[in-house]
Amino acid sequence: MTPPHITIIGAGLAGLAAACDLHRAGWPTTVLEARLRVGGRAYTFRDGFADGQYAEAGGEFIEDIHERMLALTREFGLALDPVRGMGEWTRRLALAGKHGEADDVALWGLDLAVEIERVWQALAMLGTAVPDPTRPLTAPRAAELDRQSAGDWLNGLDVHPFAKTVITTRLRSEYLAEPEQLSLLELARWGALYYSDPEDEGESFRVRGGVDQIPQRMAAELPDVRLGAVVTAVQQTAAGASATFHQNGQTHTLPTAYVVLAVPPGPARQIVFDPPLPASHQAMFSNLHCGPVTKVMIQYRRRFWEDVNWRGSLLTDRSITCTWQPTITQPGESGILTVYTGAKAGADFSAMGERERIETAVTQLDQLFPGSAALVSHTRTMAWLNEPFSQGGYTLFKPGDVMAHWRALREPAGRVYVAGEHTAVHQGYMEGAVESGQRVAKQIQEQGA
Ligand SMILES: Cc1cc2nc3c(=O)[nH]c(=O)nc-3n(C[C@H](O)[C@H](O)[C@H](O)COP(=O)(O)OP(=O)(O)OC[C@H]3O[C@@H](n4cnc5c(N)ncnc54)[C@H](O)[C@@H]3O)c2cc1C
Repeated sequence: MTPPHITIIGAGLAGLAAACDLHRAGWPTTVLEARLRVGGRAYTFRDGFADGQYAEAGGEFIEDIHERMLALTREFGLALDPVRGMGEWTRRLALAGKHGEADDVALWGLDLAVEIERVWQALAMLGTAVPDPTRPLTAPRAAELDRQSAGDWLNGLDVHPFAKTVITTRLRSEYLAEPEQLSLLELARWGALYYSDPEDEGESFRVRGGVDQIPQRMAAELPDVRLGAVVTAVQQTAAGASATFHQNGQTHTLPTAYVVLAVPPGPARQIVFDPPLPASHQAMFSNLHCGPVTKVMIQYRRRFWEDVNWRGSLLTDRSITCTWQPTITQPGESGILTVYTGAKAGADFSAMGERERIETAVTQLDQLFPGSAALVSHTRTMAWLNEPFSQGGYTLFKPGDVMAHWRALREPAGRVYVAGEHTAVHQGYMEGAVESGQRVAKQIQEQGA
């Protein structure tokens, strides 16, 4: 007997992972994707950059514990370029009008690298409050931690104010949140998942040639991926379901057995469900938001940073927030710096026009590295908050959100199965997107036949 048909809404990594697993298991699938490309927030910019160089507009780094993403790169025969571990992000700092290496005692008046190390140790200690980061609700003080914010924890930390600024900046860029906006339970969960051993900096990787090759290869396996198909409504009855979508100026209704909803919370809010989703799912979609983030990718005719023995990674209290060099392993005379701006500054950058955002980034870097602006050859930028089918970078769990929504994020709502990075243990990562897609494919196979 042929298994019933599944409609997957969203061709990001979550939707594609669900579709691939179901397709391989013999289930008929249709993927409906609003944009004219697959990949969602896994999107590589190539156009206009000299020397064949490229930079990631969205998801970029794959951590060494991201088994599913690493497995996909192996499966598709894609090469990985290693990136230095965690310490790289806090090695070079521009704070309070000073600029240099964290361990430059003459500059900062103390070894700031040692102070920052103490914060990582405190984060590892915080992580012990969540013995099983895959099940945070079972942590002994889960509700109490979730009521507090990362800001409460930072206030109580006995470290130099510069180290606090560095960690605040890191939270802004890593979680797209001001410290008071981030649930302490979520930060503790991250401490347990990613920072449990302060001695181990971990390793991360980029996909050589661009991360978008992964969703493209996944989509190429699938029999029915429809682009430019904007889903506006999902209907369910006891006997089946259907998805209504607009494509090429026409409205279509596709009958199906089950729906995988693999879109971020913002776009999900705009889909009309008939009957309405259960109260738990409605509350989850109305409360969860993706944090603001922009990237500005600046290609310079030559890699001026090599003159000052700098690798391109910088944390700063200026509004640009942080930078790194996507071309570190790419050949060519030119080089690209990515300026990554999250949280409140990310919202401010999103409100600017593209030209003003680019100029702000180039100018702030020129103030730190005089003469660099004259070397700019090409720029691109992306403000994820302004993208109607993303509405932000990745999900930010505010105080109270983990306790309120963790269960609903993983439970089907009748014939609708919810996937996406927001529903995953490795929330916020491409790994989480794939994890969630694989989870719903398994749930459907177990319960749906
Ligand atoms: C700036 C930035 C940097 C990041 N850095 C990293 C990183 O270094 N490492 C990492 O692992 N992760 C990173 N991430 C996160 C990672 O990119 C995401 O977690 C992941 O790609 C999300 O995949 P997804 O499938 O859940 O959602 P998406 O990729 O957003 O896919 C959802 C899809 O649904 C489509 N859609 C939306 N509404 C509709 C509709 N109504 N009808 C039909 N289709 C619809 C969208 O167009 C989209 O294609 C970053 C993200 C951003 C934005």
